[in-house]
Amino acid sequence: MKTLKFALAGAMFSMAAMGSGAAVAQDGKDITVGVSWSNFQEERWKTDEAAIKKALEAAGAKYISADAQSSAAKQLTDVESLITQGATALIILAQDSAAIGPAVQTAANNGIPVVGYDRLIENPDAFYITFDNKEVGRIQAREVQKAQPEGNYAFIKGSSSDPNADFLFSGQMEVLKDAIDSGKIKNVGEAYTDGWLPANAQQNMEQILTANNNKVDAVVASNDGTAGGAIAALEAQGLAGTVPVSGQDADQAALNRIALGTQTVSVWKDSRELGKRAAEIALELAAGKEMSEVTGAEEWDSPNGMKLQSIFLTPVAITKDNLDTVIDAGWVSKETVCQGV
Ligand code: BGC
Repeated sequence: MKTLKFALAGAMFSMAAMGSGAAVAQDGKDITVGVSWSNFQEERWKTDEAAIKKALEAAGAKYISADAQSSAAKQLTDVESLITQGATALIILAQDSAAIGPAVQTAANNGIPVVGYDRLIENPDAFYITFDNKEVGRIQAREVQKAQPEGNYAFIKGSSSDPNADFLFSGQMEVLKDAIDSGKIKNVGEAYTDGWLPANAQQNMEQILTANNNKVDAVVASNDGTAGGAIAALEAQGLAGTVPVSGQDADQAALNRIALGTQTVSVWKDSRELGKRAAEIALELAAGKEMSEVTGAEEWDSPNGMKLQSIFLTPVAITKDNLDTVIDAGWVSKETVCQGV
């Protein structure tokens, strides 16, 4: 029996719980990794989960999880619950990078290591593993610009509570800056997409189309879900397939849209690798390693000047020209990609 110290919502309280807390284990059999998902309904996270589970199973460790269903408040109680269920390490995909702070603090108070998964948790108590998100943004802009070097651009950004949204946008702007400065490209509308939800992206796109009398020549959408929403709005105006659109995640529907010609690019981030690496990091930390001793860890300066231990993986552009990359990698079947082509 162990007493856990919580510091949620500013209040300190204690609670008895079964579990081994910060116990140092030599192999995975005494380790329970609790994974807190933010929005598990999205296709990509299922692949991430399978990879995490596989790596934990191989080490003999236990996997437990919770899904916040896009609620930052639920995610705080989810993390509490994972801790009381005996998590000895946590992997957190933060719904809201600021709101998650108290949960990380609770984990730290109890000696439970945290891996910030895919999305930045700006706290030195959280290890940060992700893909190079700025580069994802550069790829999106680069491929859209190749297809449509000038004209009216719309930017369907990610969720404002997810730091990735701004990393992506800054990469996009880096690529397009000269063309925007010279007037070749005009930013005719940009909007965050609440919760990254396709329906919200569709609404944003509809508003931008209306505001510009449908004169939108290109859409830089920040992931495949938002691309789907944007394309639905274009479709309703008879514009799908004539306006280049970006995405990211190599979702099945998006790869099919690329084959059909309604989406220009997706960005493949092999989340099988991200999940595996995150599980391995959680195991290393649960076994007592310092963050700086984690295999492959490098120090990284966060936007607010914190020194975080981190690992960045490399994203890959997927267009009509290299759809075989994801097929050959066993990511998706040819039948799925080519359906209806
Ligand atoms: C991830 C994307 C994902 C998006 C929505 C971002 O933080 O990097 O891969 O599409 O969240 O869940």
